[in-house]
Amino acid sequence: MAAFTIPEVERATEGRLLFSVSPGLNFSQVDTDTRTIEAGSLFVALKGENFDGHNFIRQAVEKGAAGVIVSEEREEYAQIPAAVFLVRDTRRAYQNLARFHRRRFAIPVIAVTGSVGKTSTRNMISTVLSQKFRVLQTEKNFNNEIGLPRTLLQLTSEYEACVVEMGMRGLGQIAELSAIAEPTIGVVTNVGKSHIELLGSQENIAKAKCELVQSLNENGIAVLNQDDPFVAAMADACKGKVVGYGIESNAPIRADRVVCNEKGIRFTCRCFDQMFEAHVAGIGEHNVYNSLAAVAVGRIVGLSEYQMQKGLAEYKGTAMRQELLRMGPYTFINDAYNANPASMTEAVRSLALLTKGRKLLVLGGMLELGDWTQQEHEKIGREIAEEGMDILITLGEPAGYIAAAARQSGMKNVYTVTTHEEAAQRLQSVIKPGDTVLVKGSRGFKMEKILPYFERK
Ligand code: ATP
Ligand code: MG
Repeated sequence: MAAFTIPEVERATEGRLLFSVSPGLNFSQVDTDTRTIEAGSLFVALKGENFDGHNFIRQAVEKGAAGVIVSEEREEYAQIPAAVFLVRDTRRAYQNLARFHRRRFAIPVIAVTGSVGKTSTRNMISTVLSQKFRVLQTEKNFNNEIGLPRTLLQLTSEYEACVVEMGMRGLGQIAELSAIAEPTIGVVTNVGKSHIELLGSQENIAKAKCELVQSLNENGIAVLNQDDPFVAAMADACKGKVVGYGIESNAPIRADRVVCNEKGIRFTCRCFDQMFEAHVAGIGEHNVYNSLAAVAVGRIVGLSEYQMQKGLAEYKGTAMRQELLRMGPYTFINDAYNANPASMTEAVRSLALLTKGRKLLVLGGMLELGDWTQQEHEKIGREIAEEGMDILITLGEPAGYIAAAARQSGMKNVYTVTTHEEAAQRLQSVIKPGDTVLVKGSRGFKMEKILPYFERK
C-alpha cells in the first residue's frame, strides 16, 4: 500500500499542514471512501457531482484516519485528532500522490487506450505478462481521473509490472492520465466512434487517443494497431520507438492463417524473428488484435515465445464482453457490458463466423451517438441482414432503427419489444436447441437482464 510521511504529503501535493497531532506520523495508505477506510490512512476529501468528501471528515477520523486532505478551511478541523492538509484542489492532490507513489517503482507501466477493447486488451496483456511477472492491473473499469490514481496507489514492491486502462470523454483527459501514470509503454487499440457526441469527429477522437503516444519519452514504446489508419498515423507523434501489430498490414507483430469459430481462435503469430501457433479461448477477430497487442507488450518486456503462447492460452475472457455461456441446449454470447458502432459491428461479425446452429440477436441501442444515432443503428441493421442472421429482437429506442433497417434489407424474423421481460418471452418462443444468441447493447440498457430467464433451462 502507498505509505506517506507528512513531508512527503506536503511535497507531493504542494499542500500546507494546518494542524498535526504528531510530526512523525506515517500514513499507511490513501483512501477516498469512508466506507472502506482503515485506521492509519490518509483521507482525501474529493468532491463529486453528488457528494462532498468534506462532509465525511468526522466519519473518516472516527474510523481511524490519521490525516485528511481538504480544500476548504473549516473551524471544526482544529478539533479533530488527525493531521489536516490544505490544498487548492483535492482531486489534483489525490492524483499527485498517485504520481509520487508511481515514481517509487522502476517497473514497466503499460497504459491501454482506444475506442473499444481497452478492458479486454488490458486483461489479455496482464494474463500474458503474468507468465513472468507479478502484475497489478486496473480493477473493473476504473479508467478515469479517480480510478487511475486509485490503481497506482495500490502498487507495492511486490509488483513487477502494472497495466492500466485509460478512458476519456474529451480532449486533454488522456494527457492528464498519462501525466499521472507516466507509462513506459502505450497501447492504442483503435479509433472508433464512441463518444463522438462529445468530441465532434473521429479526427478529434484520434487526437485525444494520441495524447498517450505523445506522453511517452525517448525511452517509451508505442504499441500501435497498424490496421487502423488513425492509430498507425500516431507513430509520427512518438518520441520513442514504435511497435506495430495487425492482420492486414505487414507489421512486425502479426497474425497469419487466422481461424475463428466456436472452438476459439487459432492463428500463426509472427513476432519479429519469432513464430508460434496461438490458441485463444474467445470468439471474433477483435480478440486476435487484442492478442497481438499482448504479444507486442510481452516481447518488449522480454517474455519468451513459450510464455507468450501460454499466456494467450490462459486468457479466460472478460465478463460481459463476448462472454460465452452455455445454458442447457443454447449458447449465449453475453456482450451486454456496452455497445458502440465498432463493437456492435465486431460482435455481429464474430457471430457470423460461427459455423453451427442458428444465429439470434437480442439488441439494445447504442447511446451517446448524437446526430449519428439513426445512421449508425441503420448500418448495423443492414449488416445483420447481409450476414444472414436468423432472428433479431430489438429492445426499445434507438434500437428500433436496427430492426427497421434489417427488415428493409429483407430480413424476415425481426421483432421489436419494449421491456426485458417481453424480449425474454419473445426469445423463449423462438429459440431452439443448438441456437447461439448474441446479447448486446449500451450499458444503459442492461441487456444482461434477459439471461436469468434462461439460466435454469
Ligand atoms: P469502455 O470504454 O466501456 O471501458 P473498453 O474499451 O474497455 O470499453 P471492452 O470492455 O474491452 O472495451 O470491450 C467493449 C466491447 O468491445 C465488447 O463488446 C468487446 O467484445 C468488444 N471488443 C473488445 N476488443 C475489441 C476490439 N479490439 N475491437 C473491437 N471490439 C472489441
Ligand atoms: Mg473498459
